[in-house]
Amino acid sequence: MEFDRFKSEEIDGKLRQEVIGREIIPCDTVVLAIGQDNAFPYIERGIGIEFGKWDMPIVDKTTFMSTRPGVFFGGDAAFGPQNIIWAVEHGHQAAISIHNHCQGLPVTERPPQGMHLTSTKMGLHEWSYSNNYDPVQRQKMVHVDLPARFKSLHTEVELGFTAEQTAAEVQRCLNCDVETHFTDSLCIECDACVDICPVDCLTILPNADEHELRADTLAPALNTEQPLFVSGALKQTKRVMVKDENVCLHCGLCAERCPTYAWDMRKFAVLIPHADSVVPATVAV
Ligand code: SF4
Ligand code: SF4
Repeated sequence: MEFDRFKSEEIDGKLRQEVIGREIIPCDTVVLAIGQDNAFPYIERGIGIEFGKWDMPIVDKTTFMSTRPGVFFGGDAAFGPQNIIWAVEHGHQAAISIHNHCQGLPVTERPPQGMHLTSTKMGLHEWSYSNNYDPVQRQKMVHVDLPARFKSLHTEVELGFTAEQTAAEVQRCLNCDVETHFTDSLCIECDACVDICPVDCLTILPNADEHELRADTLAPALNTEQPLFVSGALKQTKRVMVKDENVCLHCGLCAERCPTYAWDMRKFAVLIPHADSVVPATVAV
């Protein structure tokens, strides 16, 4: 394969390049990996791997297996230009399929995704996350002055936050990973959470069909694309706690106010299975 040799120079703040030679590297096969095109001349046709549009292999989007069992593709080679994050995910999914294939299990048999919800409550009004959102302005990061930047193209422009700015900036976090969690058996129907909710998204009312509940909440829950949270029957009156997830701010005030810990703020973590988390199965021989 032939390469041009370049020399790069910075002249008057501009990058100039000049071809200064040529180099040949001997090789048997060259795999094109420029992120713009796919070429599979090295895969023999007629071995069971079917190719479709743009001469791309036909790959199952769940199992990442080609039309030839036991041959898998992912990343750009499977679906054309995407980004590295997708390629890594394809690798994880293909690894599950490869594991199943080697165990003699159907590649379509895939472990489910899981989640963890961990309470952040540490005391009556103490939480393991900072629930005090600070509406201060975004901190302005110090940048290198323009004349200094032009003197060298290698200058790192953003100098980072100071310790004080960092402390102020992290207080602005909305804690999207901390979710409200309700335990109906603990609720004494004191209405404290309903009173304090700044967006009126909580209502305690007799159970009814979804259409009626949506209309009867304190602030009607009109976005039908967002599921409504409806608790089980509460102990005292058999009414239900209804929460309009569409407008909840995750401010945590309901949990802060609740005297019985029926509302809690829980940290959410999604558990994405990988090939090494697949439970070994008994294989029939
Ligand atoms: S987290 Fe805040 S907005 Fe959401 S239900 Fe509780 S009090 Fe209301
Ligand atoms: S504050 Fe707690 S106990 Fe009172 S109504 Fe709300 S969830 Fe129930």
